[in-house]
Amino acid sequence: MISIIGAGPAGNHLAYLLAKKGQNVNVYEEHKTIGNPVQCTGLVTDSIKQILDLKENIIVNKIKGFKVISKSSSVQINFKKPNIVLDRMKFDRFLADKAIDTGANYFLSHKFESCRLNKDFVEFISNNKQFKTDYLVGADGPFSLVAKSANMYHNRRFMIGLQARVNLHMTDSEIIEVYLGQGYFGWVVPEDTNIARIGTASYKNSNEFFKSLLKKRSPKAKIREYQSGVIPMFNPKQKVQNGRVFLIGDAACQTKNPSHGGIIQGLTAAESLSKAITENKNYKHLLKKLNRDLNYNSLIRRVLDKFSENDLDRLVNLVQKTKVKSILENFDRDYPSKFLFKLLIQEPRLLSFTKYLI
Ligand SMILES: Cc1cc2nc3c(=O)[nH]c(=O)nc-3n(C[C@H](O)[C@H](O)[C@H](O)COP(=O)(O)OP(=O)(O)OC[C@H]3O[C@@H](n4cnc5c(N)ncnc54)[C@H](O)[C@@H]3O)c2cc1C
Repeated sequence: MISIIGAGPAGNHLAYLLAKKGQNVNVYEEHKTIGNPVQCTGLVTDSIKQILDLKENIIVNKIKGFKVISKSSSVQINFKKPNIVLDRMKFDRFLADKAIDTGANYFLSHKFESCRLNKDFVEFISNNKQFKTDYLVGADGPFSLVAKSANMYHNRRFMIGLQARVNLHMTDSEIIEVYLGQGYFGWVVPEDTNIARIGTASYKNSNEFFKSLLKKRSPKAKIREYQSGVIPMFNPKQKVQNGRVFLIGDAACQTKNPSHGGIIQGLTAAESLSKAITENKNYKHLLKKLNRDLNYNSLIRRVLDKFSENDLDRLVNLVQKTKVKSILENFDRDYPSKFLFKLLIQEPRLLSFTKYLI
């Protein structure tokens, strides 16, 4: 028996993969419905198709590029393959339905409280009842109680993501706007020509940054819904396994730090964990490839965090150079290990920013 806490993308996909291999899987979700509340922009690269066959009704919009805007400069990068804006609620439910159809059992309105590790099994308490399981998986998001209870929480660092769905007329509904500012970054992701997801991510002063972007971009916009949440920063020292307890997705801080995406990373980790459990392999070892990219992303974030407005302008100006732009257009941002060195070779002036790593 494998017990998964949390029915987000990571937990649902893992449940499906394990059930497909004939494992007995139980998923416990604290909310009474799956996918609610939404706390995400739902933007993913085309590489999601290498992991899943997406149903068309989950796709809200397809994006052909993004415009990066700093204080005094801007540049547009066109994607080789369109990015996808997901309906996050439908996406989570689609993954859960797949897992249920394959044989996984779901227990909703079930809140995990604590666990006790034994050599051959794990005991845990959910909704005041005690359960016994062979393996316990924490797919329970950034504030993971499983991580806390199994001594794997550590000192986490979070960015605060504030987002609203607003009525906003978009002249080009296939282009994302990305705002780079000192201490924050912001986004406007169109759903169509009349609705957009506007948000900011920062370590502090989040309300200020969010209000200022809203004011700048759509001072009179009608807010349809708030969808805010926190984003855990990847930490290479994060423990992902303690005996028979594993962590996955945001619970394991498996997010790409520069843009804070975590959907593809959680799904990728689910593939590794399913393999580790069913083939008795080392989970951490199987995460090596994912962690390599997350590490590169983490370095990029460390540098960006120290940028002044002038540095950001200089960066945007360097990206305008044909060769740099072409590398960014042709490679998938989920996998910086494939292009970071190429970028530095094509534009050695980018190396000057590495002073911020010291
Ligand atoms: C504002 C914002 C915008 C974002 N935009 C993007 C984006 O555009 N693209 C992208 O890839 N990523 C984005 N992310 C990140 C993305 O949302 C997460 O990386 C992703 O949701 C992680 O999936 P998960 O399954 O690990 O965790 P979650 O989606 O957090 O799911 C965890 C589940 O566990 C449940 N749970 C928690 N505690 C318990 C408990 N004690 N007992 C039972 N159940 C519990 C929760 O209810 C939830 O259903 C964004 C995040 C934020 C905050």
